[in-house]
Amino acid sequence: MRVSVIGAGLGGLCLAQGLRGAGIGVDVYERDAAITARFQGYRLVLNPTGFEALHGCLPERWHPLLDAIVDDTTVERLILDPRLNKIGELGPPRSGLVVDRHVLRHLLLTGLDVHTGAGLTGYDVLSDGANGEAPKVQAHFAQGESATADLLVGADGVNSAVRTVLTPQTIPTDTGVRFVIGRTPLTEQFQGLSRAWGAKIAGDGVSLLLGAMHFRIPPKQAAAELAPEVTLPDTGDYVRWAMILPPNGSLGEQTPQEAVLSRIEGWHPDLRALIEQADPDNSTLLSIRVVEPRDRWAPGPVTLLGDAIHATSPTGGNGANTALRDADVLRRSLIQADGGGRGLLDAVGDYERQMLEYGAEAVRQSLEALPAYVGKPKQAA
Ligand SMILES: Cc1cc2nc3c(=O)[nH]c(=O)nc-3n(C[C@H](O)[C@H](O)[C@H](O)COP(=O)(O)OP(=O)(O)OC[C@H]3O[C@@H](n4cnc5c(N)ncnc54)[C@H](O)[C@@H]3O)c2cc1C
Repeated sequence: MRVSVIGAGLGGLCLAQGLRGAGIGVDVYERDAAITARFQGYRLVLNPTGFEALHGCLPERWHPLLDAIVDDTTVERLILDPRLNKIGELGPPRSGLVVDRHVLRHLLLTGLDVHTGAGLTGYDVLSDGANGEAPKVQAHFAQGESATADLLVGADGVNSAVRTVLTPQTIPTDTGVRFVIGRTPLTEQFQGLSRAWGAKIAGDGVSLLLGAMHFRIPPKQAAAELAPEVTLPDTGDYVRWAMILPPNGSLGEQTPQEAVLSRIEGWHPDLRALIEQADPDNSTLLSIRVVEPRDRWAPGPVTLLGDAIHATSPTGGNGANTALRDADVLRRSLIQADGGGRGLLDAVGDYERQMLEYGAEAVRQSLEALPAYVGKPKQAA
């Protein structure tokens, strides 16, 4: 069996690792010219399902390294005013495992054949062979190349090109929520902000969300000690900050840092210093769009995984976890098909039935969590 995975995000890479480990041929095609081409280095909170899925897809010899690059976290989830006084609670304390997306992605890339600069533009399902063989699928890429496989997996994120062909009626919905996200090295000066990790700092029409990424062992060192064939980036501890802007907010001519600073005049000096000292190459404006899975498409050698079919609001903290779960569920089904225990289309159908159900639920939960984070509209003067 040969599988083409479109998109080298967390979901696609996790699936590719799982298939590689099972001896199934897999190629990954990524539109970006390089893996580090854009800001993607925020921290993620993994739940037990996502973490288990990662364990399932990665070779056992890397499990100690995976365990070393995550850190336990428990946060209080307070609502604070701009001077850091408690004014409420967002909900009960939350615990989980935090991991840096960029570091995890490097682990997931190890040993894979990833074709970069390969943006999928479309695909054709090749009709059944004369002797009734299962149909194959040919993917087409922007540079004019094509690739044929038994299964094409669209793991190409919220704007999925695969989805637009497979299920054109499934389109992203813009929630209108915009946020600026960035990161700042976690120096001694910011240790005093620890009460605000996981908190919402509620300002005038905006809210600032902070979270700490602390590595128990620097990831590069952890790889050198625990799995020398893996090269991880030299990433240090940092604070991830995100400012949710008023509805449909934009930055105008401002840089992300300037935009945040202009909205936090008079805030606690450590909060201002946090933004002032941010890494300028690691901040950006993002919009929250969701994809709600609708009806299932006709069975065939093409399927979808992750944000491509169930993009959640980041405030749900479940998008990556669900993408990793997809990878593990699909991996298990494909291993059965590869071993001759069932047909490929039957295996893919089984994955799709499960994924569409829990994927829709993940989107619903994330949308339910969104209003708690969105700032109240600014009072008219
Ligand atoms: C700020 C922020 C914080 C978050 N925090 C959490 C969290 O704490 N917990 C959690 O579970 N989730 C979190 N999420 C959500 C999570 O990051 C996503 O759900 C997850 O990364 C989706 O993975 P994916 O592999 O499906 O898609 P992506 O990571 O979007 O990867 C898709 C890949 O496909 C490539 N691609 C796109 N189009 C094409 C094409 N035509 N051809 C080839 N390649 C293509 C893209 O370049 C990209 O590399 C957060 C998201 C954000 C933005």
